[in-house]
Amino acid sequence: MAQILDGKIVGAHVRAELADKIAKHRESHGTEPGLTVILVGDDPASAIYVASKEKACHEVGIRSHTVRLAQTVRTDDVVMAVEKANQDPTVDGILVQMPLPPQVDTTRVLAALDPTKDVDGLTTYNQGLLAGGLPGLYPCTPKGVLRLLDYYGIPVRGQRALVLGRSTLVGRPVGLLLLGRDATVTWGHSQTRDLPALVSEAEILVAAIGRPGLIQGDWIRREAVVVDVGINRQGPKKVVGDVDFLAAKSRASWITPVPGGVGLMTVAMLLENTWQAFVHHDDAR
Ligand code: NAP
Repeated sequence: MAQILDGKIVGAHVRAELADKIAKHRESHGTEPGLTVILVGDDPASAIYVASKEKACHEVGIRSHTVRLAQTVRTDDVVMAVEKANQDPTVDGILVQMPLPPQVDTTRVLAALDPTKDVDGLTTYNQGLLAGGLPGLYPCTPKGVLRLLDYYGIPVRGQRALVLGRSTLVGRPVGLLLLGRDATVTWGHSQTRDLPALVSEAEILVAAIGRPGLIQGDWIRREAVVVDVGINRQGPKKVVGDVDFLAAKSRASWITPVPGGVGLMTVAMLLENTWQAFVHHDDAR
């Protein structure tokens, strides 16, 4: 029976460490990190995510400010909001809440973002640093996956890792981070043939697809480490992952629950990236 990779415990640990560093820095220097969130439109899920990010910032001592723009804005309006935050020396991190409305050109908005303030790690610059194995601001969810493995002392080097999903937000960067830690990485996606055979070989499986319960328990290699990034809403209250949790739990050695796993790490890593950006700006001042 698998042990749980608990995002609640690890997320709380990361937040407590950060709160301590931020408090000490404030005492000695009188400054603290600042995050600006740009929220476009009135999508209820985005509003909930932004509220939880604001609360998390407040709890660790990061100043946060949300710029709210109407659903009908043009790309230029969003770019202007980004540029204003770029120029504000009290802002260390800028997060543009995705998805943007269809009339807004996401590529242009991200291109306007100062890479040193890109706490979601979505600019081409930061994605390039990650691909090149160089230090930078990396996307929060992938960073959270690695932090969970590290916290529980799970070895990565030499392991056969299978990442299902290749989005720039999750799948691609998770695989690159695992590769950077000397795993032997394979990516699977919608065009992959014979997913069950591939899954059965994986010592570390990261599922980031967005299909409820697609990965069946009996596909999973015995003693594998299973990280389920998927968040699939089933009705107003129920959320499930991409892996059939109960069946997988009886074969895996470690597994993340959904909810209570990777999702909680994402917010913790956003806070950590904001701190990282702050330290970088502080050194440059
Ligand atoms: P996405 O952009 O829609 O990407 C989904 C990926 O899954 C694509 O690469 C797609 O392949 C692949 N895929 C789709 N159907 C498949 C199938 N039947 N077999 C194998 N691969 C398949 O989604 P995302 O933004 O990466 O997010 C993935 C999941 O993670 C979602 O459930 C999302 O809600 C969740 N998520 C969670 C967090 C968190 O904090 N826990 C953060 C972000 C996202 P193609 O490339 O071929 O289309």
